[in-house]
Amino acid sequence: MSERLRSIVVAGGGTAGWMTAAALARFCGKGWRITLVESEEIGTVGVGEATIPMIRNFNQALGIDEAEFLRATQGTYKLGIEFAGWGGFDDCYMHAFGLVGRGLGLLPFHHYWLRARAAGRAAPLGQYVLNHVAAYGNRFAHVQRAADSVMPPMPYAFHFDAGLYAAYLRSYAQARGAGRVEGRIVDVERDGESGDVAALTLAGGERIAGDLFVDCSGFRGLLIEGALATGYEDWSHWLPCDRAVAVPCAGTSPWTPYTRATALKTGWQWRIPLQHRTGNGHVFSSAHISEDEATATLLANLDGAALAEPRMLRFTTGKRKRVWNRNVVAIGLSAGFIEPLESTSIHLIQTGINRLLDFLPNGPVADADRDAFNRMADFEIDRIRDFVILHYAANGRSGEPFWDMLRNMPLPELLANRIAMFRANGRIVREHDELFDVAGWVQVMVGQNILPQRWHPLADQLDDAQLDQFLTTVATAFSRDAERMPDHQSYLARFAATPQPQ
Ligand code: FAD
Repeated sequence: MSERLRSIVVAGGGTAGWMTAAALARFCGKGWRITLVESEEIGTVGVGEATIPMIRNFNQALGIDEAEFLRATQGTYKLGIEFAGWGGFDDCYMHAFGLVGRGLGLLPFHHYWLRARAAGRAAPLGQYVLNHVAAYGNRFAHVQRAADSVMPPMPYAFHFDAGLYAAYLRSYAQARGAGRVEGRIVDVERDGESGDVAALTLAGGERIAGDLFVDCSGFRGLLIEGALATGYEDWSHWLPCDRAVAVPCAGTSPWTPYTRATALKTGWQWRIPLQHRTGNGHVFSSAHISEDEATATLLANLDGAALAEPRMLRFTTGKRKRVWNRNVVAIGLSAGFIEPLESTSIHLIQTGINRLLDFLPNGPVADADRDAFNRMADFEIDRIRDFVILHYAANGRSGEPFWDMLRNMPLPELLANRIAMFRANGRIVREHDELFDVAGWVQVMVGQNILPQRWHPLADQLDDAQLDQFLTTVATAFSRDAERMPDHQSYLARFAATPQPQ
């Protein structure tokens, strides 16, 4: 690599490639050359339509106007994810964004709820979660809270058309100077001395040289694996689903402001409402059901007529052993894959980009930088993996071999400890800056019937009347707040309406 890094090449133009190029174009405007290579002939995975609230930070950092973004991507609002059939065949719960209730003194709300529940005086947990109440009422609004409000703000995310989002970011990046080269990469050239990647060669013979390469080539990992043979840690013993079949269908009204994840006999199905259609997919284990059967199951469970041929995607859940190797940084599917049960892949792209910007080298890359980058990436994805495994491990679908196997599998040690600690004392500890917070873990654990034997002793400081009043205040405030919000669809139609010429 030259003394001063000047040229960054992004290999691949899916969601990961264009998010990376857009962010680099936004922040590395002067003195850097950003080039993205993509192949229309190969195409993108074309799924990835549900997000979590942090996506708004990315859009805001790029200065993207929310209304324009929703118009451009046919997006809708998302307040959480409904899990149907996971805790038991007829069970249903929501992992909603935002806090559960509100804290009182030192304690998270759920300790008070556990105490009231044991006395038979608590409503279901979801009634103390604003996003849950609003989502099931099909409500949405940008909630502005007074600075002195005791209630939490209402976080939200989006559902959007992944192809339209990539196209939107492509225009954004190109308008800010990022170059785009169309062509199939057929060779990755390594520097004879350093072993770093020196250039990509395209089918037409064109050579694209660079100092730093971002591998956004998808599952193939053309540079990080194809050229550098970095290695992959396989997690399919914990997450055995290895296929997804996806199909869009005609949308139905109202557009629910939440994603639905329905457990099926050998996997699960997603439903993502967009303005112009509904996205659907069946994630399954090919060891337990054939591709044909899985496709037939999906087609039998759609809201409306299928709008395209079903598309089969094959994957191995896991992570790249080092996401930064030599002068190649893997972002997106080339870095690893966890099924989209908690909509975390686009988020991982975003944090990969943040880290890349944080660690942008000002000359030759130091091993210490690379090591720190990789440690941070490992920590993040390992914790997300555990959260996703929890949904499988705590299933209540007795009698179905796929689910029986998952309920009885040995768990990663940290996850097993986490479940044991919650079961005993209702305690969840969020370590460092891991993605999922106490509210997320509590909703999934309780939603899947992991109920603690005890609560925090300080929850006994309130007398019964105070406890009742506290819970009632929270539930009443949330139900009143949600009722005041407009209907999601009409709010969105107004908010994202095309501006009329003055
Ligand atoms: P791709 O989309 O595969 O892009 C790869 C790019 O590399 C393409 O442009 C391709 O043309 C290019 N390329 C490859 N080889 C070459 C070559 N030889 N020459 C030139 N170009 C090449 N994430 C979420 O956050 N939420 C979700 O709801 C969600 N659902 C998902 C459902 C499924 C079934 C799957 C598989 C993934 C889902 N994801 C989801 C993940 C999300 O789709 C991806 O993280 C995201 O699309 C990024 O993909 P990518 O850009 O890394 O790869």
